[in-house]
Amino acid sequence: MKIKSNTISLDKIILSSQNILFIQDIDGVCIPLVKDPMTRKLNKEYIFAAKKLDKEFFVLTCGEHEGERGVNRIIERSLGNKFKPKQDGLYLRGLAACGVEYQDNKGEINSEGISKEELDFLANVPQIMRPKFRLIVKELFPKMDDNLINTHMRKSICDTRFSPTINFNSLFEISENNLKKIKIQRYFQKMMNEIISIGESRGLRNSFFLHISPNLGSKNGIEILKESKNNDIGSTDIQLLLKGAQKDAGVLCLLNKFIGDRKGKKPFGENFNFRDAPIEKSEKIAFCKKYIQPKDMPLIIGVGDTITSNQIKKSNSFSRGGSDRSFLEFIQLLGYEFGIKNNIIFVDSSYGEVFRPSTKETGLKGITDKYDSLKFDIIFQDGPEEYINWFTKIAHKRYLIKN
Ligand SMILES: [Mg+2]
Repeated sequence: MKIKSNTISLDKIILSSQNILFIQDIDGVCIPLVKDPMTRKLNKEYIFAAKKLDKEFFVLTCGEHEGERGVNRIIERSLGNKFKPKQDGLYLRGLAACGVEYQDNKGEINSEGISKEELDFLANVPQIMRPKFRLIVKELFPKMDDNLINTHMRKSICDTRFSPTINFNSLFEISENNLKKIKIQRYFQKMMNEIISIGESRGLRNSFFLHISPNLGSKNGIEILKESKNNDIGSTDIQLLLKGAQKDAGVLCLLNKFIGDRKGKKPFGENFNFRDAPIEKSEKIAFCKKYIQPKDMPLIIGVGDTITSNQIKKSNSFSRGGSDRSFLEFIQLLGYEFGIKNNIIFVDSSYGEVFRPSTKETGLKGITDKYDSLKFDIIFQDGPEEYINWFTKIAHKRYLIKN
């Protein structure tokens, strides 16, 4: 695939189409990647631009909207005001926690499809993680004192509401070699699997799965860890997620809302949520074809930064993954099936603090390959800054045309 960065034809499409919809990831796309998630920053101009697109824009992220670590706090910090985002509808509308947590631009949250038992267990997970974390760190770093363990624990365990997460970045920083990093990845993967077993022992049998980011695709529904290498740090975090929480299921939920807004009636039903979505991609397509009339289907612009493809030398094949892959592949295929040229934008997030393959240094190696069915229409090689610059301009132009 050639690296295309010219937006002229996409700009034309955005400015001339009646019915468009942005579905955009957040971290690495409009927020540069950082090691400590508490230091994330969002450009103010971007927030106003997203507001200008109004109902033609949704975010779709595996982070969360609410809570201390949520994107809503970043927006309040960016605007320097805790009340303005709610008053003026400046929160980012769309789905967080990989498709579970919906909010409108006033920050009104809706999380349908989750039981009280599941929510209670999720709230308890960080507490279950802490003693296990301590034991693992003591084994891997025997000389570390309790104070320092606590500091790492605070940075590594994210007590998010729908997606408690273990993040490796702070321990990676003090790891002398890849072997140590791989041990960290494997030990904590085991710990997260134990948490699933604890959930099962409490009657939550089909409730959760592990989302590894970035990953090497999945096998039998289980995501494959991407081990650290010299030029690629590999998986940096593992989230405990509710089964069904997948970004491509999120696309169905967002389409349901989008068409509902325009037509006054939601094609998949009023209370459709991530747990009602068909599992297989082909079933999702058939589902859309059954309920959505072609004239109601928007032209979708899908934007993401986490796509991986790694050659497996032994079998001469590729292991493809990344948390944005499923939803971007689905958007591309959906367009194809409806005869619409949906556009896929890849943002190169390698210039943040987290090590990722860089398109400027190694082309698309590690991201995609020539046999990959997912094709990018535009690649922003200069990362979030370049994307935001383009996004704010095009959102403004579209706003002027529509208003
Ligand atoms: Mg991302």
